[in-house]
Amino acid sequence: MDYNNIDIEHQLHEVTKTLPENVTLVAISKYHHPDLIMQAYNAGQRVFGESREQEMTRKHDELPTDIQWHFIGHLQTNKVRYIAPYVSLIHSVDSLKLLKEIDKQGKKFERIIHVLLEAHVAAEETKSGLTPSEMTQLLEEGTWRALSNVHIDGIMGMATNTDDQQRIEKDFESLRLLYQQIKQRFFASDEDFKTLSMGMSADYRLALKHDTTMVRVGTAIFGPRQY
Ligand SMILES: *Cc1c(COP(=O)(O)O)cnc(C)c1O
Repeated sequence: MDYNNIDIEHQLHEVTKTLPENVTLVAISKYHHPDLIMQAYNAGQRVFGESREQEMTRKHDELPTDIQWHFIGHLQTNKVRYIAPYVSLIHSVDSLKLLKEIDKQGKKFERIIHVLLEAHVAAEETKSGLTPSEMTQLLEEGTWRALSNVHIDGIMGMATNTDDQQRIEKDFESLRLLYQQIKQRFFASDEDFKTLSMGMSADYRLALKHDTTMVRVGTAIFGPRQY
């Protein structure tokens, strides 16, 4: 096996000790061997994130059943059915079509599937997600209210991939404001709308300054990915 030479328990602790109690750590294990996931698991970590549905399902089938699996990658509607039976949170909902399919699969498996709407605020054109106005439009349109087997828990976003800390903080602040606006306008009476997922290895400390409630950290725990 081509393992990274890295003390995962130590790295995990280095991250968790900086997080306030109300912030959830999603350990992003995409492309990493299940043995590395087990090292983090044995150190107490239970929430893991993956970006490809086949890989996540394989790991889900093989690893302990009390792991909460979060899906963070681009999700095609025809792939929802594979993760619907067990996924704990889908971070990357970027269309009404996808939301409807998740609801449909939730019905089929008799569960409510929790999701985040993915926001696009970063400078890169390639980044996926809904612009703030697209997200507001989707919610204004109202179809989502009738979808009883999918629940919108909050929003997810990424900052621009840059060394410019001011730019990164500006993006996190845009995400925080969008989250607050949407919460007030559409989810004021929904206590379960409470998740603002932002911050990765390089920038989660900055995200903490802008009230993130969920950080998605891979490299800082597991080392570099071997693609
Ligand atoms: C891969 C990935 C992460 C983790 O990135 P690191 O830099 O390894 O911490 C977080 N969020 C998303 C959406 C990702 O695709």
